[in-house]
Amino acid sequence: MDDETICVTKAPVVFDGYDSLTAPVCRASTIPFSDAEAYSSRFERGDDGYVYGLYGTPTHRYLEHKVNALARGQRTVLVPSGQAAVAFAMLSVLEAGDHVLIPDSVYPPVRDFAERDLRRIGIEPTFYDPRVEEVLSELVTENTRLVWIESPGSATMEFQDVARIVEIAHARGALVGCDNTWATPLLFKPLEHGADLSVEALSKYMGGHSDVLMGSITVRDPGLGTRIKATLGRMGVGVSPDDCYLVLRGLETLSVRLQRSGEVAYGLAKWIAQQPVVDRVLHPAFEDCPGHAIWKRDFTSANGVFSVLLRAEAVPHVHAALDVLDAFVIGASWGGTKSLVVPMTIRQHRTTVPWTGPDLILRLSIGLEPEEVLKQDLERLFTALEHRMSETPDMADEQAIGE
Ligand SMILES: *Cc1c(COP(=O)(O)O)cnc(C)c1O
Repeated sequence: MDDETICVTKAPVVFDGYDSLTAPVCRASTIPFSDAEAYSSRFERGDDGYVYGLYGTPTHRYLEHKVNALARGQRTVLVPSGQAAVAFAMLSVLEAGDHVLIPDSVYPPVRDFAERDLRRIGIEPTFYDPRVEEVLSELVTENTRLVWIESPGSATMEFQDVARIVEIAHARGALVGCDNTWATPLLFKPLEHGADLSVEALSKYMGGHSDVLMGSITVRDPGLGTRIKATLGRMGVGVSPDDCYLVLRGLETLSVRLQRSGEVAYGLAKWIAQQPVVDRVLHPAFEDCPGHAIWKRDFTSANGVFSVLLRAEAVPHVHAALDVLDAFVIGASWGGTKSLVVPMTIRQHRTTVPWTGPDLILRLSIGLEPEEVLKQDLERLFTALEHRMSETPDMADEQAIGE
């Protein structure tokens, strides 16, 4: 063979006798066909067939299979982020003139997507109170095609009764989709409670190492799965097999990471709740967490992500005080090996249920560091807050001094 042909031709490597405990990374845009007839009939290969890199290689099938099996679904499709999973789940089932119900506590970029993009193409979103399933009986209209659930709500941790929502929605002919990112299929399986679509931001716990963005949509009805896959293909949406490999690698340790970060988080949450600068901790195992009884009934456990509400007087000092943190990193996303903290504002993201608490929530994502290291770090934060609060007397004190 001449040099130039050798350069562009696959080597005759034998696979017989080779195996591995992990999924191979199969990269391809072009899939070669044995003859022109096979090429011409390529779209008859079905949803799992290999046709073109965009529609997936064996590496994609490995990950689709695992996510699908964990979610107890009939088909899973992969998309480039969790946000894409929510957006494409909605776009795949909604059309102009349809109405969609979305919880007021939804992941804020999803609210933005609904307000800007869904509205622009003639789909009407209504935001509902996630704490009262029964409000849906009145909100579901003839045009309601989809009821969206995110349980628990981003940052404010409202757990929703999926079975009850499914009952109300299905009685009126609407589908139910659930963003299950917080739980992962290990802690809760929305499809087993009647939901039609379950989405995951694989970027969070399932990928688990803060180095990959991906999302998945899993459905119970194979026909719906085929339609979603076709829509994604027409929109040109696909993911890299290298990224699939990273998520597959992450999945292998998902159960121990969830368990360990969940245990450490629960211990820390109990301790944090006793600190003088803290008003309230939103952790599902606490009885005052919104929807605690639903969590206890439906979820197998809690993970390492929970929220801290500080006393109102501490709020103005939070940004400056966060500088003292050393073990905790300030940054978006969660579910990785490294502990994270983010200050989140809530009021601007609520339109149905006005947020009456302090307009700042600290969301913690506990990683795999020792509990003691994280506790010492938080102790520094709380001390810094107390210090700053005592240096700046509040209005009442100033008045007292003036008089
Ligand atoms: C992070 C997150 C998403 C978006 O995931 P990305 O992969 O970061 O786009 C969607 N839903 C929830 C509940 C999330 O926490």
